[in-house]
Amino acid sequence: MFLSGKRALVTGSTSGIGLAVARALHAEGAQIVLSGFGDETEIERLCEELSAQHVAADLTTLEGCEALMSGAGPVDILVNNAGMQHVSPIEDFPTDKWDAIIALNLTAAFHTIRLAVPNMKKAGWGRIINTASAHSKVASPFKSAYNAAKHGLDGLTKTVALEVAPHGVTANCISPGYVWTPLVEKQIPDTMAARGLTRDQVINDVLLVKQATRKFVQPEEVGALAVFLCRDEAQNVTGANWSMDGGWTAE
Ligand code: NAD
Repeated sequence: MFLSGKRALVTGSTSGIGLAVARALHAEGAQIVLSGFGDETEIERLCEELSAQHVAADLTTLEGCEALMSGAGPVDILVNNAGMQHVSPIEDFPTDKWDAIIALNLTAAFHTIRLAVPNMKKAGWGRIINTASAHSKVASPFKSAYNAAKHGLDGLTKTVALEVAPHGVTANCISPGYVWTPLVEKQIPDTMAARGLTRDQVINDVLLVKQATRKFVQPEEVGALAVFLCRDEAQNVTGANWSMDGGWTAE
């Protein structure tokens, strides 16, 4: 239980990857702050399961980010994971979707990091882990806002890593390939429409075709990597953008 006494905020942890990361950090003794939306009864159940606090805040707004950070209190581990996707050709891309994706997938991380760093510096220890994506390294068509936000998150992470390195704080990205979560499931109909394909063709010829392993990444695998990045043995892993994509970006 090497994270006993550490407090971890995981954004977007009511579902998918964030929930798996929260579970993995909790299993190592961290005190968890959950964030994100969902069914209230289910969120209460998760709070019980993880002895966690839940702070509901819309992270597409500055006010929401500030409310989350004041509700969470000082944290030792910050996992920026909340994200959303929209699939559309650039000429039809809804401008409100562009704004929301940049706000949630990129700007929210800027706000949570700038608000969390002073306490980490004071403590002389901290871990910032940003869930980026293979799309922080390479693009796919019809995902302009997502690709732009995730490439930006990589740049933000590297910059922060350089600034906080003297204070015992690391900052890294984890970049999964396709993980079977609601975020992926929801983009299938739009991808079918944008590319004129069936559901099975989208899964096999668009999603899994990218990954040499031909397997979806499991959320628990991302949780295990997040735990490793919190270890003292990972103190020199900083400014990295760690792929977990079944070989997608090796090509
Ligand atoms: P998910 O849809 O299962 O979870 C998204 C989480 O974000 C939920 O907890 C949701 O409540 C929260 N959220 C959504 N809008 C929010 C808002 N406005 N304010 C606060 N919270 C909000 O998605 P997931 O697949 O687990 O994705 C998590 C992260 O992993 C995202 O950043 C995503 O881009 C990234 N990612 C996912 C995949 C994948 O294949 N699923 C691959 C690479 C990267």
